[in-house]
Amino acid sequence: MNAYDSDRMKDSLLPLGYQESKDLQDADIIVINTCHIREKASEKVFSELGRLRKVKERAAEQQNRQVKIVVAGCVAQAEGEEITKRAPWVDIVVGPQTYHRLPDLVAKLDPLDRRHLIDTDFPPETKFDFLPEKIGKRGPTAFLSVQEGCDKFCSFCVVPYTRGSEFSRSAKAIINEAKKLISSGTKELTLLGQNVNAWHGDGLDGKEWGLGRLIRELADLPELYRIRYTTSHPLDMDDELINAHAEVDKLIPYLHLPIQSGSDKILHAMNRRHTALDYIRIIERLRSVREDVAMSGDFIVGFPGETDKDFADTINLINKIGYASAYSFKYSARPGTPAADKSEQVLEHVKSQRLLALQQLLDAQQYAFNKNCESMEFEVLVERKGLKGSKLNARTPYMQSVYFEGSESLIGKIVRVKVSDGRQNSLFAEIIS
Ligand code: SAH
Ligand code: SF4
Repeated sequence: MNAYDSDRMKDSLLPLGYQESKDLQDADIIVINTCHIREKASEKVFSELGRLRKVKERAAEQQNRQVKIVVAGCVAQAEGEEITKRAPWVDIVVGPQTYHRLPDLVAKLDPLDRRHLIDTDFPPETKFDFLPEKIGKRGPTAFLSVQEGCDKFCSFCVVPYTRGSEFSRSAKAIINEAKKLISSGTKELTLLGQNVNAWHGDGLDGKEWGLGRLIRELADLPELYRIRYTTSHPLDMDDELINAHAEVDKLIPYLHLPIQSGSDKILHAMNRRHTALDYIRIIERLRSVREDVAMSGDFIVGFPGETDKDFADTINLINKIGYASAYSFKYSARPGTPAADKSEQVLEHVKSQRLLALQQLLDAQQYAFNKNCESMEFEVLVERKGLKGSKLNARTPYMQSVYFEGSESLIGKIVRVKVSDGRQNSLFAEIIS
């Protein structure tokens, strides 16, 4: 979502005459878009700001150029004042719901006045109605935010505080943006939301729609090749969405469905409001309509009060589901969240041991999944040049990264590849047509 927001902020500065700079040293304005989800991500912001201070000072001394530094995103939202105290060279602090005001803030900056501008409101208007109509160039795949914010208040999570309450854009606004993206080169869309499947927007018929219905509508756009969505919450996996996986060819057979823990006691303490069995049942329902769906998830180890037995429940759940990929984290106590104040915090070395064991299992599952794809054929959309020399890069319908030889002119085209080698983090293949 930050990648999407960054693109939109960039779009919003185009009418002011700015264009994207390839080199940090040439930039007149530097926007750093930040993440507050875990402490590590948050702390990175301050080290990055130290680096940017030097860039700013150098431009002033050597070229008499006043570089403006903007901090956007969820760290800006949560720690706006703190940022301007610790890094007084920052000019603007703007939150995730007010970045449509960035051009105004930039225009308001007075070069002779050393005051900072901070805008971290939760405004009554939605930014989506005020972002410029015109969007910059996009690649073969693009993000499209359909839903934002969260009302679920898991006890470990800052999102409801930094992104605000749940909001769904209307189907009309989403379809319009999808058409614009398609006409600027996009063939595959990833629908985004903090809980994307909690999307309940105004439909084209004036009734409220769910995500399954929206996906069906988007699939009717002829130039659109493929649709994905992320991140989903187990409580919002309704039948319409599950059935879309069976009925909509353009929807990939892949689901990222976080559970965080396999222990009901911990799930309860996390305020997830479902059990491990509820989660397993959802996946059974999905696999009964679309057998080959690849599963992904998020896990947190070392939540306060997690015992060896609770952790073993998580390992058992992972063994039961079988993941094609997953994200896993050590619990990070976030200021202002209920779990941060709990007394039974798990020791750091225990968290590290558990994370290692969990990741070994998830890595083994991912490797087996990739290995199993050897000699399979996939139709893929060529996204970019690969990191490795002349190889091209794409994603399979199961979201694996796949590399193959081919000319750069194939970027943005659809090719059929045959997998020759399944490795830990990617596949290698040959184009067959
Ligand atoms: N809405 C999604 C997740 C959004 S946050 C859901 O509810 O499933 C993305 C992921 O970050 C979470 O799934 C969780 O695994 C991780 N995360 C969030 N807060 C965290 C914290 N305090 N410590 C460690 N991981 C955290
Ligand atoms: Fe955070 Fe997701 Fe829970 Fe919302 S549902 S509070 S985004 S983890």
